[in-house]
Amino acid sequence: MKQNKNGVWVSWNENLTYNYKSLYKITTEKELQEVITNSEKVRFFGTKQSSADIASGVDTLIDITTYNKILSFNNVEHTVTVQSGVILGDLLEAVEAKGWCIPCLPDINTITIGGALATGTHGTSGKLLCEYMTKCSIVLADGSIKVITDKDELISAVRVSLGALGVFSEITFKCEPIYTLHIKERPESDDVWLPKIEERLKKHDFLRILWLPHTDKGYVITGDKIDPKTEITENLGPKYLRHRRTASKILYKYTHIFPWITAIANKLLYRGFFSSTKEHKGSLYQATVTKSRGSTLELAEWTIGLDVFPKVFEELKTEINKWSNKSFIHIPMDVRFVYKDKSWLSYAYGKDTVTMGCVSRNAATADTYEAFKSIEKIFLKYGGKPHWGKRFAAKDAELTKIYDKWEDFKLLRKELDPTNKFLNPYLTELFNEKQTTNGIT
Ligand SMILES: Cc1cc2nc3c(=O)[nH]c(=O)nc-3n(C[C@H](O)[C@H](O)[C@H](O)COP(=O)(O)OP(=O)(O)OC[C@H]3O[C@@H](n4cnc5c(N)ncnc54)[C@H](O)[C@@H]3O)c2cc1C
Repeated sequence: MKQNKNGVWVSWNENLTYNYKSLYKITTEKELQEVITNSEKVRFFGTKQSSADIASGVDTLIDITTYNKILSFNNVEHTVTVQSGVILGDLLEAVEAKGWCIPCLPDINTITIGGALATGTHGTSGKLLCEYMTKCSIVLADGSIKVITDKDELISAVRVSLGALGVFSEITFKCEPIYTLHIKERPESDDVWLPKIEERLKKHDFLRILWLPHTDKGYVITGDKIDPKTEITENLGPKYLRHRRTASKILYKYTHIFPWITAIANKLLYRGFFSSTKEHKGSLYQATVTKSRGSTLELAEWTIGLDVFPKVFEELKTEINKWSNKSFIHIPMDVRFVYKDKSWLSYAYGKDTVTMGCVSRNAATADTYEAFKSIEKIFLKYGGKPHWGKRFAAKDAELTKIYDKWEDFKLLRKELDPTNKFLNPYLTELFNEKQTTNGIT
């Protein structure tokens, strides 16, 4: 196993940096066990694309991206087993080649499976990615391996566990036969798309709304399963649409100094890039997942019960349209839908849920982005939950009120990791544990 000494760990968008003493690039489960057994404090990371400070910050780090093999397919059960450092895009290419799919995907393909599961990564019109996991092995703090299947009660605690219970080693996903989606995209006024959410969730196989703050518009994307041979009139919109990110970058360049420019920029971006319709078809992966993007984003995301969403949305809209509070928000706010599950730290625990993203297109100045604070305030007021991999300020005192199973999770964590081996400073605060230097509280 390769070991780097005394280096600097830098997150994807360069907002988080930490010095480390040892960084191990592991390639086998045995190496993973060895490093964990021999470390007092250790964190592990995938492609470092979380905005939350959960992946580093201790002396010993494990790079999981070199533990990335697709291990086996089971043609009878339609399952695939992988090492946890596999990149989602690589897994999806392999699964599609078998004529299968994972039926709910995030809008990013460069993350690792381990990182995605740990933070409750999700797509839309389905369940969290971790809900398609039927079996996993995790390496516990004492270096032993625990195998958990979907028949075990423990799976509900482990599916979304922030890398605080153990490290995912091998993971098995249940796949479904691949299908083709007929995607239609169009702009709609807020008073048109908002009341239609529930009706559209019933009618369509895929629903996502890119809300365009300060324009009163949303860009609605629907998808319906069709026979792959069905002819459609493909319309990918004008060629210049591909320059949207460059245009956003220019228009938002000074919004950290003059936030109100955002309101004008958004109106221009709407006219230029979100006012045309589009139509195309493809697999869920090919037709809906972004394959390349720049690394200058900082993200937050909040989730709320489907039933309460319209009220929260209206309150949020009123708040950010007040020019006094400087909460101007870059385009788009991604509105997606996750169906209820039983995972303790899932956003959709026991409830069909709406997720609402918030992006700052200038990662370096994200600390001055008032929108992150306003959104958190409003969502928390209604019991909303933050995305574990994205930016939020809430800690134990708030989380215990919004997660029914928060205290159970804390107890289990303490039982499995009594010396807090897996806690970095951020997680120590999140779980309201005492900071220590030698790993023992
Ligand atoms: C541009 C962009 C788009 C995104 N789109 C979406 C989206 O559509 N939906 C969504 O829900 N999220 C989305 N995210 C968030 C993203 O999916 C998560 O932040 C994810 O955790 C990133 O994976 P990673 O491999 O970079 O993990 P890292 O950031 O490296 O690690 C995240 C956490 O996982 C832990 N971890 C890593 N590997 C393991 C393992 N093997 N076992 C246990 N714990 C482990 C780490 O310790 C850390 O706590 C997006 C992020 C970006 C930057």
